[in-house]
Amino acid sequence: MAASSQADSALASFMEWFTARNPGEPEFTQAVSEVAEVVVPYIAAHPEKGYAEAKILERLTEPDRVFMFRVPWMDDQGVFQVNRGYRVQINNAIGPYKGGLRFHPTVNLSVLKFLAFEQIFKNSLTTLPLGAGKGGADFDPKGKSDAEVMRFCQSFMTELCKHIGFVTDVPAGDIGVGAREIGYLFGQYKRIRGHFTGVLTGKSLQYGGSLIRPEATGYGNVYFSREAIQHVDRSLEGAVCSVSGSGNVAQYTIEKLNELGAKVVTVSDSSGFVHDPEGIDKARLAFIMALKNERRGRIKEYADEFGASFHEGQKPWGIACDYAYPSATQNEIDEDDARALIENGCKGIFEGANMPCTHAAIGLFQGAELLYAPGKASNAGGVATSGLEMSQNKLGLQWTREEVDQKLTAIMRDIHQKCVEHGSTDGSVDYVKGANIAGFEKVAQAMMSQGLV
Ligand code: GLU
Repeated sequence: MAASSQADSALASFMEWFTARNPGEPEFTQAVSEVAEVVVPYIAAHPEKGYAEAKILERLTEPDRVFMFRVPWMDDQGVFQVNRGYRVQINNAIGPYKGGLRFHPTVNLSVLKFLAFEQIFKNSLTTLPLGAGKGGADFDPKGKSDAEVMRFCQSFMTELCKHIGFVTDVPAGDIGVGAREIGYLFGQYKRIRGHFTGVLTGKSLQYGGSLIRPEATGYGNVYFSREAIQHVDRSLEGAVCSVSGSGNVAQYTIEKLNELGAKVVTVSDSSGFVHDPEGIDKARLAFIMALKNERRGRIKEYADEFGASFHEGQKPWGIACDYAYPSATQNEIDEDDARALIENGCKGIFEGANMPCTHAAIGLFQGAELLYAPGKASNAGGVATSGLEMSQNKLGLQWTREEVDQKLTAIMRDIHQKCVEHGSTDGSVDYVKGANIAGFEKVAQAMMSQGLV
């Protein structure tokens, strides 16, 4: 059999094995098939490494363990409520489990397994000793009072604390879990355990947080995009950029793009998007930060305040831009959106969110030969800076803003370099191939050294 048809049949039989084991888990299947398309042929092309016999990919798709638990809490009316909490500890070959907590009504096992799986490759790419996990609950913090969120977090941590620890599993934030939630979770952990450790990252500065951690995912994505854009001899200076989302990742993506001379013309939330052709400058970004972080309001208020247009129930991908930074949630760019971006002259997509592009959308981007950077590479700055927060906690000190930003910049440059090394074909870079192979190699080698575990 020719090498490529051998790889095709290896891929088909792996996916058959995987889907039979994980029925009804579409997000997890999507994330795994994206990786398998690159990694299975790589494994087949390198029999000397022994990865096929050692069933490395099969082991990577089967979490070490999954915790599912009841989270009972009482709302402000005195009514009992019940949610479901989870922690997926997927792989600790290169370090303690590490990954965020997501509080959102769409959270289920498929979503968390996909996120945990992505985290394996992302955390490996950071160059830091971080294993992978993900957790959360189907709880919606939107519209809840601070007191309700606190009671929920305390109940969630009362169970979660049995499974995490500074050298075991270190959660952080994700969608719906920001500084407020991390504070409540940390307080409860400390109260139950009776000791003060850096068991969570994304902590506030006063109690062991790192400077630049809030900015890190957005800044990191822009640093990564700057590398990729420079690599094809272009620049962000004067570029028109489209950003989706309006939370932490979107906010700091906009801030850094402005700093580098680009103009950001869109921002969104689950109710729709705002188009501001004048550009979201520093003052307008400050409005978004106050609106979203303090008042927890809807993005439509931005349009009302600055006379920009608001497009209810729509996504921003029909607006012409040079570069797009999807920073909201999974599968927010489908085939039609991808087509619209390409037709309107978009030259690059840099994922701030996890898996924001569908499989079909990615295929279109790759066919159109524009820059496409998967989140596991381009948004790794968040968890990388979590790793730096853990280092500071271990050392018992706090690095300056400049020190952390310098390390983050170097890490993003390094990740880009690894993508170039492993993904270069015919003078262009396949970032999907580069990120997946580079991320996989480190973990696979560690697993081989550790035997059948
Ligand atoms: N939730 C973030 C991510 O998707 C950060 C995780 C962390 O800092 O542990 O990478």
